[in-house]
Amino acid sequence: MNGKLSRRDFNKLLVSGVAGAAFGIAGFSKPLFAASSRVVIIGGGFGGAAAAKYLRKLDPSISVTLVEPKAIFHTCPISNWVIAGLKTLPDIAQSYSVLKSRYQVTVIADTAVAIDAPAGRVTLKSGKVLHYDRLIVSPGIDFKWDAIPGYSQAVAEKNMPHAFQAGSQTMLLHKQLIALKDGSNVLICPPANPLRCPAAPYERASLMAMYLKKYKPKSKIIILDDKEKFSKQELFMQGWERFYPGMIEWRAATAGGKVEKVDGAAMTVTTEFGDEPGGVINVIPPQKAGSIAFEAALTDATGWCPVHPTTFESTIHPGIHVIGDACIAGDMPKSGFAASSQGKVAAVAIASLLRGKVPVSPSLVSTCYSLIAPGYAISVAGVYNLSSSGIVDIKGAGGLTPMDASDDHLRQEAAFAWGWYKNITKDNWG
Ligand SMILES: Cc1cc2nc3c(=O)[nH]c(=O)nc-3n(C[C@H](O)[C@H](O)[C@H](O)COP(=O)(O)OP(=O)(O)OC[C@H]3O[C@@H](n4cnc5c(N)ncnc54)[C@H](O)[C@@H]3O)c2cc1C
Repeated sequence: MNGKLSRRDFNKLLVSGVAGAAFGIAGFSKPLFAASSRVVIIGGGFGGAAAAKYLRKLDPSISVTLVEPKAIFHTCPISNWVIAGLKTLPDIAQSYSVLKSRYQVTVIADTAVAIDAPAGRVTLKSGKVLHYDRLIVSPGIDFKWDAIPGYSQAVAEKNMPHAFQAGSQTMLLHKQLIALKDGSNVLICPPANPLRCPAAPYERASLMAMYLKKYKPKSKIIILDDKEKFSKQELFMQGWERFYPGMIEWRAATAGGKVEKVDGAAMTVTTEFGDEPGGVINVIPPQKAGSIAFEAALTDATGWCPVHPTTFESTIHPGIHVIGDACIAGDMPKSGFAASSQGKVAAVAIASLLRGKVPVSPSLVSTCYSLIAPGYAISVAGVYNLSSSGIVDIKGAGGLTPMDASDDHLRQEAAFAWGWYKNITKDNWG
């Protein structure tokens, strides 16, 4: 961790950051008029589930309704492990039963289709209308389907999965990898920044290479990137050299990596160098906030939602808080850890605001692990606070796995990766 902060210190900071904020609110006395306030949450992923649970923990007098169409939520974290056969889909399945039974969150299996901000009203696909005092919007990402000529939702569902929302897309890519003819190549096409989990395409390349090395040794992976560099690049390349020499070729945008168009029927990707055929083609299109954020006019020209950093309240529509991948959170990456952290901060802020109190200034955290081979993982961690320019990374507070770390260190990181996953999913949904 750059010698700046040990994992134990970092975890302590993480716990105290969240718990400290929570105590600040729990210490307030309840108003005598204690009429029950209504908070509606759209999206039961990393941000929305955390916000639902922590709101109920902070103030059981608040009625919390979570709207989420999926009965079972499959997490993107660890989904690359599923694609490579190291884990299965049930290993990454989360249910809402504990949120319902232990925390009395009302979970509605439906989709929000409209938000009337002045009236404080959400309309669901079923026609049901929910009234709120505060609304949290955590819909994750949507794709810019028209950004790559030839690519579409239909092509993603049949020929060239993105696998950037977990579930059926994860399994499609997994099955395609299993069915690959030995000697055919795998193409992975990541978009330009910003994207959710910036390291995810490269963890995916690593674990797919692990699979190919064992079962299809004549195949290789070509990454056609719309970037000039990527997250944890040196560490990934060091791992690739060690475990998969000659098996992963990375092409930067200006070195033939930029995708000009794709052909789902012919299974080719066209770059400035011509047509590149692939037996498996994983196209990850450019991203934007989930569509309900556009419907509700919560986005700006970037395609993401501007928010006040203390409360994650929209700068466009007061009373609506946007968290997770959909919001603009300064230096924070779009990660599950960041979304969960923002969910807790929004919960603390809303509990305060509903009691007429001033919200506390939060600390936020994110760590992202990437497994390169079994027993060999790397990570990047960040701690963030507020400045006049928004949410900023506290220099030296987080860190990166050092280059040339010992095998023991890398093995520990791999154990932490799975431990992190078990902890955050229990914290959010358990
Ligand atoms: C391959 C991959 C690996 C990753 N690995 C990691 C990792 O190791 N660590 C990490 O921290 N992050 C990781 N991430 C990133 C992480 O998955 C996201 O950053 C995180 O899921 C964002 O949380 P969210 O709440 O914003 O969105 P999501 O978790 O995607 O949740 C959004 C939810 O909103 C629901 N929804 C959308 N629209 C509506 C609507 N109109 N009405 C009702 N519900 C709606 C959706 O059904 C969905 O369940 C990874 C991502 C990928 C793609």
